[in-house]
Amino acid sequence: MRVAFIGLGNMGGGMAANQAKAGRQVAAFDLSAQALERAQGAGCSPAPSVAQAVKDAQVVITMLPAGPHVRKVYAEDILPNAPKSALLIDCSTIDVESARAVAEQASAQGFRFADAPVSGGTAAADAGTLAFMVGCDEADFPEVEAAIGPMSRAVIRAGDHGAGQAAKICNNMVLGISMIGVCEAVAMAEKLGLDPERFFEIASKSSGQCWSISNYYPWPGPVETAPSNRGYAGGFATAMMLKDLKLAQQAAAAAGAATPMGAQAEGLYALFDRLGYGTKDFSGILQMLRGRLEELDG
Ligand code: NAD
Repeated sequence: MRVAFIGLGNMGGGMAANQAKAGRQVAAFDLSAQALERAQGAGCSPAPSVAQAVKDAQVVITMLPAGPHVRKVYAEDILPNAPKSALLIDCSTIDVESARAVAEQASAQGFRFADAPVSGGTAAADAGTLAFMVGCDEADFPEVEAAIGPMSRAVIRAGDHGAGQAAKICNNMVLGISMIGVCEAVAMAEKLGLDPERFFEIASKSSGQCWSISNYYPWPGPVETAPSNRGYAGGFATAMMLKDLKLAQQAAAAAGAATPMGAQAEGLYALFDRLGYGTKDFSGILQMLRGRLEELDG
């Protein structure tokens, strides 16, 4: 299979490498020469431009920062140069409106398109264990699933164009809200003289149980692999969570959905980011709620 891979950053680098590892011919392009070099080291063939990368592709995969990048690269580079038979898959996290606009443009020119954002961070991108939420025509899904195969542990069709992005921001809005809820409870437990480690034991087996408690408990100790045990480094960066919460608010406004808790979560993460902690894991917001930001500076 001939794959063109555009956008070889923190996520795309590992994803393109897994396409090459699966024996596919990967023509790769990124604006960054360093990223391109890394992809070459992982078995991809560097291309001098997007146009060159896509010209013989059977599948085009993009992993770009945000909506404006995706709109521009598709309109100016991919649609004018890829063969009409190519299956186009955008894995970036972008606004629903941009995903639908690009899908419409692609369909009008005879292409098949899927929005397929991912859940899982750079470790899952490197390991080929991302979860994909796909918005595409039902008939195209088996081919999308096969194309995504080497990068994934789960591929789920969310619905038609844009539904993949809708699923991603709805899921991450739950995550952002639930993490703040957990952090508030942990900070309150401490004030009430309840040991946060003992609270973990209880809440992880009670009705408060959720992903934020079981996997990313914000108090160091109980969950060995949680970012709280390494000074909130790595994990899911606050700036990334903020990006997804902003997309959720944008979508809610456009659709007329009431999301008051999502709006609160966005505001709190914006403040945490503004205070200089955008690169810390999003569970670090516990220290802001405790009034102990200095614990993040060590
Ligand atoms: P990144 O900034 O590391 O990578 C983006 C890459 O796109 C960069 O290497 C950049 O040079 C390249 N690029 C930008 N414009 C380009 C163009 N016109 N042509 C070719 N290359 C171009 O970002 P990332 O962390 O890899 O994230 C990519 C997407 O995945 C984002 O939408 C992000 O929200 C989403 N995402 C990230 C994570 C994560 O943990 N990092 C998790 C899930 C989803």
